Amino acid sequence: MVSSDTFDTALNVQEGIEQPTQVNPFLQKKRKKELSVADYVNGITGGDRVILSRAITLIESVKPAHQVIAQEVIEKCLPYSGHSVRIGITGVPGVGKSTFIESFGTHITAQGKQLAVLAIDPSSERSKGSILGDKTRMEQLSANPRAFIRPSPSGLTLGGVARKTRESIILCEAAGFDVIIVETVGVGQSETAVNSMVDFFLLLMLAGAGDELQGIKRGIMEMADALVINKADGDNVRPSELAKTRYQSALRLFPKQENGWEVPVTTCSAIENHAIDKVWQIICDFEKETKNNGFFDRNRNEQHVKIFYDWIDFTLKNNFFNKLEIQNKIDQLLPLILSGSITPYQAGNQVFALNDN
Ligand code: GDP
Repeated sequence: MVSSDTFDTALNVQEGIEQPTQVNPFLQKKRKKELSVADYVNGITGGDRVILSRAITLIESVKPAHQVIAQEVIEKCLPYSGHSVRIGITGVPGVGKSTFIESFGTHITAQGKQLAVLAIDPSSERSKGSILGDKTRMEQLSANPRAFIRPSPSGLTLGGVARKTRESIILCEAAGFDVIIVETVGVGQSETAVNSMVDFFLLLMLAGAGDELQGIKRGIMEMADALVINKADGDNVRPSELAKTRYQSALRLFPKQENGWEVPVTTCSAIENHAIDKVWQIICDFEKETKNNGFFDRNRNEQHVKIFYDWIDFTLKNNFFNKLEIQNKIDQLLPLILSGSITPYQAGNQVFALNDN
């Protein structure tokens, strides 16, 4: 019998053939030069797209050393930020978001605008970097020198994606982008996150499908600054016009927006580039009106205050639950709560007492 340690099986680690150190000795492995905070800031404010991309990668990095540099870069870019119009675009998958952004982006870049497109996709494990991963998405815009497209950071929770996207907006603005689109790729809670970082929230819809079918919750319709019914082409023109009237009536039942803006409903065809200019005009009117009545800045200020509180809330909870003694105490108290020998409040107070010590 052959003993197992001398018998070659696929389960044994084979020594293999020794590899030459360099297959092509002329090929030097390119290592990216480390950039300083000043390099990043100068590059970004000088409009260097490669450096902007690298800075966003830094923002998205989980390495503490990267985060330190990223936060410094953001801080130094802040004085140059804030001068864009931030547009959120949402709608169910298949409504035509990427086709619309392609068409809309081409329209506004033709007017000399610089456009950045960022995506929020908290479920991006499924579609890792879907915007760039899927080559058919925004092909034309990807090749447009006035456009910058960045996929959603992957592997993060919604809160994480939202934070990184807010920080990326600052850098894009410092790099001179006039218009920033934040697209929701996933459906669900991401709309609220997007709404908390944009000036104008655009809801793309389809004719003929019920609201439930479109997965549009009332709350999302209430957030919208415009409803745009896409695919109003061919046989779908008439149903789209009917849907427009229906949504106009539905909106009348909603509470009025505090900023005085009357939410318009319009139709377009992203694929035929029809009425895309109308949507841009709506956004320009909104910007003018809300800048005149002060609500544009007020909205941004309110967003900052909300982010501030959300961040405190997140950090407090995180720090609290990450403490080993708190975790142990909770583990110890849970059975007592379940057996009824202590009330949840008493248990909670015991945990807090531990934290106060
Ligand atoms: P997304 O999932 O919301 O990003 O939607 P896509 O942009 O990928 O579009 C989904 C499908 O709808 C694609 O097959 C598009 O070609 C099609 N589509 C998008 N916009 C229009 C439009 O305006 N008219 C018509 N007829 N089809 C469209």
